[in-house]
Amino acid sequence: MRNISVLGSTGSIGTQTLEVIRQNPDDFKAVTLTCGSNIDLLYEQILEFKPLAVSVNDEKKALELKDRLKNTADIKTEVLSGEQGVIDCATIPEADTVLGAIVGVAGLKPTYEAILKGKDIALANKETLVAGGDIIMPLVKKMGVELLPVDSEHCAIWQCLWGEKKENLDRILITASGGPFRGYSRDQLKDVTCENALNHPTWKMGGKITIDSSTMMNKGLEVIEASHLFGVEVDRVDVVVHPQSVIHSMIRLRDGSVLAQMGKPSMILPIMVALYFPDRGPRLLEEFDPFDPKCCNLTFEKCDTSVFGLLDLAYEAGRIKGFMPCVLNAANEAAVGAFLNGKIGFLDIEDTVRKVYEEFLPRNRSDNDLDDILGISREAFVRAGELIGK
Ligand code: NAD
Ligand code: MG
Repeated sequence: MRNISVLGSTGSIGTQTLEVIRQNPDDFKAVTLTCGSNIDLLYEQILEFKPLAVSVNDEKKALELKDRLKNTADIKTEVLSGEQGVIDCATIPEADTVLGAIVGVAGLKPTYEAILKGKDIALANKETLVAGGDIIMPLVKKMGVELLPVDSEHCAIWQCLWGEKKENLDRILITASGGPFRGYSRDQLKDVTCENALNHPTWKMGGKITIDSSTMMNKGLEVIEASHLFGVEVDRVDVVVHPQSVIHSMIRLRDGSVLAQMGKPSMILPIMVALYFPDRGPRLLEEFDPFDPKCCNLTFEKCDTSVFGLLDLAYEAGRIKGFMPCVLNAANEAAVGAFLNGKIGFLDIEDTVRKVYEEFLPRNRSDNDLDDILGISREAFVRAGELIGK
């Protein structure tokens, strides 16, 4: 039995994690749950999973939830709130593994604190590694905990690497669906709407990552994420656009062997691989059928970075390092938020991120601690907001 803290339990990854826990009650227990503000769903989750504690980021909503739970005498769940509430949930002594499924850099501090308390981390929250990978990776090593990748591509790469010596890894080939605007020209992108961008061809995910997939920033973030997780420079990670999303990623070894991990696009499997590691869980998904027309015509193409410029900018940030990946991420979080709220157009996302990136570049520094990174992240987020407001 493994006790799991689910950070971001009301989101796309969070609810799928609870589905894995629901289906395997002898293997896992959800000991804490956290969310931003969706207390309606969190309330249902409390009744079902009876966690020891939950936390709601929005303080007012947390009070409302407390009130609602007064009528449920058999529920002993403690209700916490704010940033400290998430940290308390992530570091609760009863938890063995923390499943990080908060969206954005908001997941960084709770992840850091959980590692300090010796928890294993199953990580979906890629922004944590993009912004704070230089802090998180050495801490993982120092504390001797497991960092288990949940992002599907990284879970695939990780599985391909099992049993391989690190020095035999030549390149990582990370696959990308190409998003809803694959094949579009820059001109065609001028008029796309938020609704168009949210219509992802192969994956059903939260809003922020769906927009990131439509700009290809998601892949840029994932290239940086892979460089931290697998200890390679970003230039040893190639992006392969593969619209069917059947191959979840590949590695090429020294002798030229290429290994791939395949399956239907579903996050249930990566979540299970992480939670059951080093064992394997039962099969929850329909069996993979290689004769299914959706699975047998596999194609590969290059990403056109003259159209999707954020991918190149992410490579640049990954090469330069220091706090630039953090700046890139924060500016992107602000710009994507503004796009989702209808404040800016699609191409303004790239424009805003690039402007903030260029402004911060002359100040770039390495050897940042957690407070430096969180400070720069806030600053870049605010600066992006100012540029958007203009
Ligand atoms: P989502 O928007 O569906 O869910 C986000 C969760 O985080 C929600 O529970 C929300 O309440 C919570 N949250 C948001 N802001 C918070 C804050 N400030 N403090 C505390 N909690 C907060 O997002 P998602 O699609 O589940 O993605 C979560 C993370 O996993 C992201 O980093 C994303 O890139 C990554 N990821 C998602 C998928 C996917 O299929 N959805 C795949 C790979 C990686
Ligand atoms: Mg992914």
